[in-house]
Amino acid sequence: MNRPEDLHSPLRRAGEDRVDPELLVSRFRDQSARVVVMDRSTAHRLESAAGKYDPARHIYLGHSGAADALAGDPGPHEWFAVRDTVVGPGLRETPVATEPLLRDLLTTTAAILAWHDTTPHCEACLGASQPARGGFIRVCLDCGAWLFPRHDPAIIIAILDPQDRLLLAHQASWAPNRVSIIAGFVEAGESLEQAAGREVGEEVGLHLGSAHYVTSQAWPFPRSLMLGMVGTAAGEPVPDGVEIQWARWFSREEFTAAVDSGEVIAPSGRSVASRLIKAWLDGTLPRHADLEPPSAEPSSEEPSSD
Ligand SMILES: [Zn+2]
Repeated sequence: MNRPEDLHSPLRRAGEDRVDPELLVSRFRDQSARVVVMDRSTAHRLESAAGKYDPARHIYLGHSGAADALAGDPGPHEWFAVRDTVVGPGLRETPVATEPLLRDLLTTTAAILAWHDTTPHCEACLGASQPARGGFIRVCLDCGAWLFPRHDPAIIIAILDPQDRLLLAHQASWAPNRVSIIAGFVEAGESLEQAAGREVGEEVGLHLGSAHYVTSQAWPFPRSLMLGMVGTAAGEPVPDGVEIQWARWFSREEFTAAVDSGEVIAPSGRSVASRLIKAWLDGTLPRHADLEPPSAEPSSEEPSSD
């Protein structure tokens, strides 16, 4: 279900250029330089670079080619990001899914600026730190340690039962009728599979029988990485009643009818949840039988236990 264009970002990060401060100064001065200005609420605006490059404030995001230019602003471009007050739409109001370059500029800006906001001190000695290498690391002023941006991994999993029905759940905090698949953050020391098994047990009381990684999405609220999986379970879900209000299995026909009638509102756009559900609908997601083959009959040649 991953398309070829999902494998390469139109934002060329040019990590090798981050080590050259003079190069970044000249890129910032270039006519083609653009800045993503974003405040802490994720309100943002794209504008031409102006003034002086400040390595303590400006993040060098990389460049984009002419073929990937945003509507109304022919490229190529050099891209920077900066934290500042700005009037503009927030990330939740921006249709980032329709423009891959804009999506990647905004998710990267949100993630890296949030990391700088929350990591002023060294993780080793708690000394003060400052940005370096185009803003993609921080260096401790006391002990010299290099600090790298952190991600918060979360899993989201399409769970299938033996009839190949999909489990959909409604969260108490969501608008009425909105449903999605089960998701949750990976806790310290867990594998993705263990996080999936724990979340499914906690939220809907089911025993996860298998779990496989499928695809992922940067989730800029503020710096998560959503890892899409597919797995299997059986039996009636028992919602926890706190986070999950109700959950039930849907066949493809039941799901389509429920969406058409407005009984449920499903995830849309290019979110991982939406992509996994679409793949289940059109048969490109592995089926239950692919994930959990029926156990073979015991062989007659197997040694008997007595
Ligand atoms: Zn330190």
